Amino acid sequence: MTTTKLDLIKTEEWGLFTDLTKPVIIAGPCSAESEQQLFETARGLKAAGIEVLRAGIWKPRTRPNCFEGVGAEGLIWMRRVQRELGMKVSTEVANVKHVYEALKAGVDMLWIGARTSANPFAMQEIADALKGTDIPVLVKNPVNPDVELWIGALERLNMAGLKKIGVIHRGFSAYGKSKYRNVPQWQLPIEIKRRFPEMLMICDPSHISGKREYIREISQQAMDLGFDGLIIESHICPEIALSDAAQQLTPAALQQVLGELIIREVDTENIEYKENIDELRARIDEIDNELLELLARRMRVSDEIGRYKKQNNITILQPGRWDQILEKVFLRGAEIGLESEFLEKIFKAIHQASIDRQTKVMNT
Ligand code: PEP
Ligand code: MN
Repeated sequence: MTTTKLDLIKTEEWGLFTDLTKPVIIAGPCSAESEQQLFETARGLKAAGIEVLRAGIWKPRTRPNCFEGVGAEGLIWMRRVQRELGMKVSTEVANVKHVYEALKAGVDMLWIGARTSANPFAMQEIADALKGTDIPVLVKNPVNPDVELWIGALERLNMAGLKKIGVIHRGFSAYGKSKYRNVPQWQLPIEIKRRFPEMLMICDPSHISGKREYIREISQQAMDLGFDGLIIESHICPEIALSDAAQQLTPAALQQVLGELIIREVDTENIEYKENIDELRARIDEIDNELLELLARRMRVSDEIGRYKKQNNITILQPGRWDQILEKVFLRGAEIGLESEFLEKIFKAIHQASIDRQTKVMNT
C-alpha cells in the first residue's frame, strides 16, 4: 500500500499549545454533563496547568438508552470556559451537523472518534464539511487495528485542505477479557510515527485502560515510546460521571499522575552517551549480520532437505518434527531468558519460510 505524503503544518504553528518542549496535555470530562460540572472541572484543570480542555458533547454509545451527550447546549458552556478561564476547548465530531455546530461555536480543536475514523463515508463527509477552515483535527485510531484505514482518514482530511492534523492512539477493540478495555497494540502508532514523523501523536490512556488505576502506567509507556502528549479524561466527581465513570480522574489526581511521569528526551548532546550508544549499536549491527548469515545457512539446509524429500517422495510438512523443534526451542529459550511467546513468533516465521523454500524445490 502506498501512502501519499501528508502536507502538514507543524504543531508549533497551531497556536494551541504554548510550550512544545513539554508533553502536550489535553484533559477534561468524557462528557459535558452540566454547566457547573464542566466549569468546575475546567477550573480544577486550569489550576493543574492544563491549557486545552476536552469534553464530549455528542457521545457515541454502544447501546441505546444511555446518556448520549447534552448536544449543542454544551457548546455554550465551552465558550464560557474559553472566555472566563482562557482555556482552549475541543470536542468530538461525528457528522456534518456536529461540524457546523462546533465551528459556529468557535471550538478551538476537533477530534474524530474511533467509530468514525473506521468509516470512510463519514470521514469523507466530515472532511468536505471542514473544507476552507484551518481548525486542528486529531484523528483517533479506528476501533479495528488497521493502519491503512487510520491513514485513509488522515488523507481525506488533508485532501480537503486541512493541514493541522494529529493522531490519538486509544487502543483497539478485542473480543473476550483482557487487562485493558482496549488493547494498545503499540506497533500501530509506532508505524504511524515511522511514516509521519512530524505529525503530532497523542496517547489516550483513559480509553485504553478503562480504569483509572492503569492510567499512570499507560501514560508512562507512551512517554517512553516518544509520544508527543496525552489526552486524559478528568471529571470533578468521577464517581457520578454519566459516561466512562471508572476511567476518569479528578483534576487533582490527574495533576499527581502528570507530576510523577518521567519524561525522556529523544536525543542528547552528551558526548559520553553518544559514544556509548554508538558502541552498543555497532554491537547490535554485528549481531544482526550474524543472524542474517545463520538464517541464510539454515535456509540452504532446508533446500537440501527439500531436494532429499523429493527424491524419496516424502511430504514437506512433518508435524511431529515441528512440535519437537518448538519444544526444544522453548526449553532452551527458558534457560537463557527468552520468552516462549517471542520464540514462537520467530520460529513460526522461520518454519513457514522453510516450507515455502521446500515447496519451491519440490516443484522445480
Ligand atoms: C471519547 O473520547 O470520549 C470517546 C468516545 O472516545 P473513542 O472514540 O476513543 O471511543
Ligand atoms: Mn470517554
